[in-house]
Amino acid sequence: MPIATVNPATGETLETFEALDRDALELRLARAEAAFREYRTTGFEYRAELLHRAADLLDDDRDRLARTMTTEMGKPLAQAAAETAKCARALRWYADHGAALIADELPGEEDVADSGAAAAYVRYRPLGVVLAVMPWNFPLWQVVRFAAPALMAGNVGLLKHASNVPRTALALEDVFRRAGVPEGCFQTLLIGSDAVEAVIRDRRVAAVTLTGSEPAGRSVAAVAGDELKKTVLELGGSDPFVVLPSADLGAAVRTAVKARTQNNGQSCIAAKRFIVHSDVYPRFANEFAEAMRALRVGDPMEPDTDIGPLATRQGRDDLSALVADALAHGAVAECGGRRPDGPLEQGWYYPPTVLTGITPAMRIHQEEAFGPVATLYRVNSLDEAVALANDTPFGLSSNVWTTDPAEQERCVRDIEAGGVFFNGMTASHPALPFGGVKRSGYGRELAGHGIREFCNVTTVWLGAR
Ligand code: NAP
Repeated sequence: MPIATVNPATGETLETFEALDRDALELRLARAEAAFREYRTTGFEYRAELLHRAADLLDDDRDRLARTMTTEMGKPLAQAAAETAKCARALRWYADHGAALIADELPGEEDVADSGAAAAYVRYRPLGVVLAVMPWNFPLWQVVRFAAPALMAGNVGLLKHASNVPRTALALEDVFRRAGVPEGCFQTLLIGSDAVEAVIRDRRVAAVTLTGSEPAGRSVAAVAGDELKKTVLELGGSDPFVVLPSADLGAAVRTAVKARTQNNGQSCIAAKRFIVHSDVYPRFANEFAEAMRALRVGDPMEPDTDIGPLATRQGRDDLSALVADALAHGAVAECGGRRPDGPLEQGWYYPPTVLTGITPAMRIHQEEAFGPVATLYRVNSLDEAVALANDTPFGLSSNVWTTDPAEQERCVRDIEAGGVFFNGMTASHPALPFGGVKRSGYGRELAGHGIREFCNVTTVWLGAR
């Protein structure tokens, strides 16, 4: 895939970038290694100042960064601005809480004595140079949620961003540079995915985190496994959105539409499978399809646009093929279901789509629909809802609408996912861990769990003081 900015609203190539050659890559790896040697000795207060300055710069640059993102990957401009603001908040959150999250841990006095020590404690030390392989769908947020905890912990970062968002990748590197982050502590590597293996294998790289698709995760984990290097994988999802009879249906429908179509439907934690109890199915199905049909598809720079183009032609073609397969096997499109013609033909648009009559024979029953396409299922009990929620290779998050505490407890116990969100939609927040099980990956980002992923958990034991 060439490294290029291509406007998905028009298909026009705006800028292409040369991939780093071997010497340029070597220079950056050497810089990262040298930077880590110094940076690891700095204190939390200093690192927090850097993150606060970066947050201020993101706020100052919000409009420009939002335009850059929308131009490169098509999300509605207001959502791009909100993403930038969210990144600033996450940087401040780690600046303010990072030191406490990885402060020295003291085991109980009795346990210390039992181990034969006069004293003992646990110190969270940075691992070193961490490579982040990142996707285009939240081109700032995905990187910041890695970079903020990594820098706060004393690691240094190398960013291999998706090939279709090079301007955003370079803009973020520039933000950290202007914030005073020392040279080499956060570098963007303009490289294709074919160059990732060599970087993971490089002795100067300690660990790798990847957010992206299952095939990319598999490939990165295989190389890192061969090198015995730590990995965190945040992969795809096909989150269930379960609606039970006690739900506030109006709120459930409004939230369902947002949860499926936010970011043009290209979110790993988007609700994708809507599993509705038969008592409330007819009303939910009607109102949901009607609200999806009413969304405005168009130029993502326009303020009244709900859904812009998909980020890549390939993504639009893959989604079309997934829907076509379902329709060929007997699914019904309650709305949408085919690529638009007319003025929207030029960009990579796909209309909001609701499919019913889904069966296990259809690919979409098991595969992730990365765009504004919802599948709607009818069930007769909570047991059936939970079984269907779990009938997926993925396990990222889940949404359940019920006010019944017993039903909530049952879902917390039995739904196979990294999150269970009740009466709302899944969203990430710096204070809450984020990640999945099954083929959605492993490890966690955000909160204390995220900052500790790339730390050397060091036992310090003193036989005598
Ligand atoms: P992708 O094709 O896997 O790309 C993600 C990143 O991996 C890009 O930087 C890409 O580089 C790189 N890459 C691709 N194949 C690789 C390989 N074999 N070896 C090394 N690097 C490789 O994913 P995408 O289509 O851009 O993003 C959508 C996917 O990401 C969806 O499945 C979505 O659910 C998932 N996602 C997950 C989360 C989460 O937190 N769990 C968040 C957002 C997105 P190139 O661009 O150069 O190919």
